[in-house]
Amino acid sequence: MTEFDVVVIGAGTGGYVAAIRAAQLGLKVAVVEKQKALGGTCLLWGCIPTKALLEHAHALKIMQHASDWGVTGVEHVGINMSQVQSRKDRIVSGLSKGVEFLFKKNKITWIKGTARLAGSGVVEISEGETTTLRATKDIIVATGSSPRSVPGIAIDHKRIITSDEAIGLSSVPKSMVILGSGAVGVEFASIFRRFGSEVTVLELLPRLVPVEDEAVSAELLKAFRKQGITAHTGAKVTAARVNVDGVDVDAQLSDDAVRTFHAEYLLVATGRGPVTTGLEIERLGVTLEKGYIRVDDMYRTNVPGISAIGDVITMGRPHPQLAHVSSAEGILAAERIAGQQVRPINYDHVPGCTYCDPEIGSVGLTEQEAKARGYDVRIGSFPFGVLGRAKMAGETEGFVKIVSDKKYDELLGVHMIGPRSTELVAEATVALRLESTVEELIHTIHAHPTMAEAVGEAAHATHGAAIHV
Ligand SMILES: Cc1cc2nc3c(=O)[nH]c(=O)nc-3n(C[C@H](O)[C@H](O)[C@H](O)COP(=O)(O)OP(=O)(O)OC[C@H]3O[C@@H](n4cnc5c(N)ncnc54)[C@H](O)[C@@H]3O)c2cc1C
Repeated sequence: MTEFDVVVIGAGTGGYVAAIRAAQLGLKVAVVEKQKALGGTCLLWGCIPTKALLEHAHALKIMQHASDWGVTGVEHVGINMSQVQSRKDRIVSGLSKGVEFLFKKNKITWIKGTARLAGSGVVEISEGETTTLRATKDIIVATGSSPRSVPGIAIDHKRIITSDEAIGLSSVPKSMVILGSGAVGVEFASIFRRFGSEVTVLELLPRLVPVEDEAVSAELLKAFRKQGITAHTGAKVTAARVNVDGVDVDAQLSDDAVRTFHAEYLLVATGRGPVTTGLEIERLGVTLEKGYIRVDDMYRTNVPGISAIGDVITMGRPHPQLAHVSSAEGILAAERIAGQQVRPINYDHVPGCTYCDPEIGSVGLTEQEAKARGYDVRIGSFPFGVLGRAKMAGETEGFVKIVSDKKYDELLGVHMIGPRSTELVAEATVALRLESTVEELIHTIHAHPTMAEAVGEAAHATHGAAIHV
């Protein structure tokens, strides 16, 4: 039995970051990972491959509008999927190798195989022969999540697929129905529509990207329609049948009409469930809720010496399944285990980015949430359409919307859809973190000409003083 201070199970953005931070703090760390490569969902099947595909879609968009840019000689624009896939794969494997390098640099032991909790402080890995590890301080469970379906829809991974298969398609599908309009659903809608597929999005809730501010959802619907993406909200998918050339999808639409959609693929993007199979964590008395590991705000389970972070956890309230959240939790858990003073994460300040076209960036309370919490809400928004930088980029859709509290001028949330929103949200995140007022944003000088001017102008607009509208 080999002894470590900390044994981390899972090398996703939660686990590998926790391991590096623990090692930086002088702890002896092992990471057990069942995949052959490091990086987990984000790096191997999630954030990185999808955003790589979206960059290809963006490049194609620019080329399709070559004549607007005065670029000549590009009359027949198309996309070569094998080149797209090999570039994407190179990016993914390069980044995964980067994590391997960081493990070596920080003297972290990588153990390949599937872990199970075999007793107090004991982790067992069966990969041919059995390896047993003892964690003298803590075990951090960071086993993440995997795609889940909805009743009546059986994923066959061939025609009825998940994001895991969608990222690897070797040719552009003629048509695709996407079930669910969360971040994953709308990002794939943007990718495949730009590549040339007929795309239909079916969403059960009354609007696209349901976690976003309502104004953002409405703007995305408008943009999708312009791009030729068909979107039905309030649509309940009841069945899907695979046939010779694709799949038939039955849905009851918002007007109660029942329709069958035919497509080459049905992409199920209805969320992800926790991965705890084979861990045998319940045997040690760890509390699970709907399969998620219950933790406190320091990521401790109810069993001393076992912590959990990332997509696999619940804290008794909605927990965002995001890479940067899992990493922040990993750092906090590692620092707490190393004996440092740590403060809980404020989940109201977690930025969310959706890289569809147009992009969405948001942080803090939506207008609806702020009203529900009893704030006397004051709103200010500013359209990208009048901004010099947006006109130059040919990206004039969308706006920045600020949600604030009238009484104290406190900034409560910033929601944006439009060019570079996934980058611009960083400014808003710092402002929220520093408990900024809107006035402080107004007095922050935004360089010209930049997309960030839209944030400054939205702050001015909140006080009824936008300059350029
Ligand atoms: C298509 C897609 C796009 C996404 N895009 C974004 C994005 O743009 N931005 C963002 O913030 N988030 C994004 N996400 C979400 C993000 O990927 C996850 O929130 C993040 O990966 C969670 O990290 P984690 O460490 O908790 O779990 P994971 O990354 O899932 O890692 C868990 C690891 O544990 C391993 N494991 C599981 N069980 C065992 C076991 N018993 N023994 C050993 N190893 C085990 C798994 O193999 C895996 O490597 C996306 C997700 C998807 C699916």
